[in-house]
Amino acid sequence: MIFERTVTTVSEVIDNFLRRKGLRNENSAWSLGESPLGEIGVFANRDIACGEEVFRDYPVIDGPRIKPTDFLFCVVCCKHNDAQLCAKKCGLPVCSNVCYQKHQSECELIRNKRGNVDEIDRELFQNLTPLRCLSLGDDDRAVIAQLKHHKGSKHGIEVDKLKDIGLCFEEKEEDYIRLVCCVMDANAFEVLIETDVKEANFRGLYPLAGLVNHSCVPNLTHAFDQNKVMMVRASVPIRKGQELFHSYVRLIWSTPTRQFNLAKTKHFTCKCPRCLDPTEFGTYMSGILCKKCRGNVLPQNPLTIKSNWVCEDCGTEVAKQEVANLICALGSVLRSFDDEDLETMLKFLHLKLARLVHANHEIAVDLKYRIVWIIGHHEKYKLRDIESQLLDLKSRICEELLNLMENLKLGDNKMKGLLSYEMFISLKEKYRRSTLSKTNFPDKSITQQAEKYFKEACSILREEVNFPNVVSI
Ligand SMILES: [Zn+2]
Ligand SMILES: [Zn+2]
Ligand SMILES: [Zn+2]
Ligand SMILES: [Zn+2]
Repeated sequence: MIFERTVTTVSEVIDNFLRRKGLRNENSAWSLGESPLGEIGVFANRDIACGEEVFRDYPVIDGPRIKPTDFLFCVVCCKHNDAQLCAKKCGLPVCSNVCYQKHQSECELIRNKRGNVDEIDRELFQNLTPLRCLSLGDDDRAVIAQLKHHKGSKHGIEVDKLKDIGLCFEEKEEDYIRLVCCVMDANAFEVLIETDVKEANFRGLYPLAGLVNHSCVPNLTHAFDQNKVMMVRASVPIRKGQELFHSYVRLIWSTPTRQFNLAKTKHFTCKCPRCLDPTEFGTYMSGILCKKCRGNVLPQNPLTIKSNWVCEDCGTEVAKQEVANLICALGSVLRSFDDEDLETMLKFLHLKLARLVHANHEIAVDLKYRIVWIIGHHEKYKLRDIESQLLDLKSRICEELLNLMENLKLGDNKMKGLLSYEMFISLKEKYRRSTLSKTNFPDKSITQQAEKYFKEACSILREEVNFPNVVSI
């Protein structure tokens, strides 16, 4: 079957899909159109305020995604407790009779392809998502047919893994699974949902969200509820007619790292305003310090890893290999740190990194972000016990990172919400300490500041299921 892919045909299947899932809002703020990026894109059909919901989406297909050490969970309800080998011995974990009823057709499909097994099969669990496409109905297949997909031998290895563990497919089934794998690789989202004892990790194909193009200056942010519904909001004010963007990569990566990952996983070069500016809006996230004059050395052409690197101040050239080696060496030092070693980390940050790279370099940012989560959270550095020096350091770093995100024009995204919350708890602790002092009056201005950050965090994170249940100060 060959589908022609136009704005009209895609709009139609997406509309139908959302309607079937009860998620089509008749006054929605988006419509599909031709993007200047040469693809179909999603556009604002009216002005959208920062924080406003733009759309909701549901996976047309989804399945578990685990790391080698992760515990498996029930393939139906995602709970970990009581998940054990399905009574019919298909190889998947299921937790109850209720879940078994919902699992039945999947179970039969698998047993038809391989027969029974005596224990839970991690490999089957890990590659379940593409297998599920064989049970999709025509409506859902029509949705998948309208999504773009990657081509190449690297995509679709899931089928080989399923064959390796003994599942047999007809040729057209195998072709279809391969196609779905390619569509998944181009469009799927990582989903983390709270279940009983721990979070469950998923990969889901969200048809409308999958049509939103990428930018490293995104204007959308998203969260998931417990039923895997994706809620998409504006992270900045959006004008009518503007294209909607989310980011496919981590936003606190520097341009060379983002470009490398986009090329490897999504096969394109991003030419957004941030990528075209070697200074990344004056943040110098890829800047290393010149050995001669301590000016910033930046890539001349950030869009290619083959670029030369040149000092902005004295013009000295640095070989790209030298830059790559430095970043690689610093990265491996970073990975070698243990969370207990706060002192070593701080020494590395202030003495070593400060001499080699810009304060906003992604390596420094990575380390600072980690430090924020150690001070006040690690067993050894509980908020109430740490010296005031460390408490001040935590709020200083939060402030630096929040400024960086502001300069990168990232708007109200999850990381800003989390950092605002960390800022709030630091200020709250600072205020508590000031009330204990017999010589000074408690500093009221701290409470006001703390409240500002608290409100910010709540407004950004209100839909995050694992947002701490906190009481106001
Ligand atoms: Zn279950
Ligand atoms: Zn089963
Ligand atoms: Zn970009
Ligand atoms: Zn220089």
